[in-house]
Amino acid sequence: MIEKGDVLAADIGGTNLRLARVQAGGHIVREVRVQTNFSQLTELSSEAAAQAIVDTISQAAQPLLDADIVGLGIGFPGFFMGDSGILASSPNIPQLDNFNLAELLSNQLHIPVSAQNDALCAAIGEHTFGAGKGHKNLLHITLGTGIGGGFILNHQPYTGEHGMAMEFGHLCVAHGQDARLCGCGNHGCVEAYASASAISARYAEISGEQLETKIIFERGIQGNHEANVIIKSAASYLGQAIAEAIKLLDIQTVCISGGLIGAWNILHPNIMVSLNNNLIPPQQNKVRILPSILKDNAGLLGAANLFNKPK
Ligand SMILES: [Zn+2]
Repeated sequence: MIEKGDVLAADIGGTNLRLARVQAGGHIVREVRVQTNFSQLTELSSEAAAQAIVDTISQAAQPLLDADIVGLGIGFPGFFMGDSGILASSPNIPQLDNFNLAELLSNQLHIPVSAQNDALCAAIGEHTFGAGKGHKNLLHITLGTGIGGGFILNHQPYTGEHGMAMEFGHLCVAHGQDARLCGCGNHGCVEAYASASAISARYAEISGEQLETKIIFERGIQGNHEANVIIKSAASYLGQAIAEAIKLLDIQTVCISGGLIGAWNILHPNIMVSLNNNLIPPQQNKVRILPSILKDNAGLLGAANLFNKPK
């Protein structure tokens, strides 16, 4: 938990940056949102892209800074070396290589800065303040444009040896010629079936209508046949991928966030059937799948909490 003083927390996406002042206990007292163009930084040199990111976060933080702020925590889409604050690489901005995001920002803002993978921050947030509170181990899955995963092991964030643990979205759930192409270049990843963008694309294929996923979920709840088919299929693939994770991890709590949890009454029972069908018998009926409590704020609150993890 955040122990003393307020902290700033940043949740960074490709087109949007959220920055908030957070009090002890995870209460957000003020928030700013800034449009970013980080997804277009691929045309810049490594140094120029790094400086553009530091400058954008720094400028967004200025209005929230005062003497009571003890530090800034950042959730960023990329792979970090342990809790060093060094971004080893980022799939969306490939020229960034061993970019010391935390140190550069700390030098600019004159406060301590911590930075970590955005999906891991969401897991930390949900474990500290949300659905996973009190659970020793937690796998947190975020269903967005892609599918992110974050893992808490023995109450501590687990990064892996290269900051790349829990690439849950790229667990393979379909094989053969018809397996769908994923953004990572492979075929059959769960992200190609159950992310918000995949659901939208798959719904368009069977209905001929290109709709926002929110509308598809609403239609699903209202009983629309095509929406139900796609949501149930996504749930089934998710259950299959969760089963593969459970076979490795033997944990009992999994939390899911993202717009799809709005259709939880369809999603949850279908995940559970698929999960238990894909587990080995001794593992069946031991796993709880919980909807996120923090929803969009999980990543922000996890970033705020980076400060109080043991170094
Ligand atoms: Zn993939």
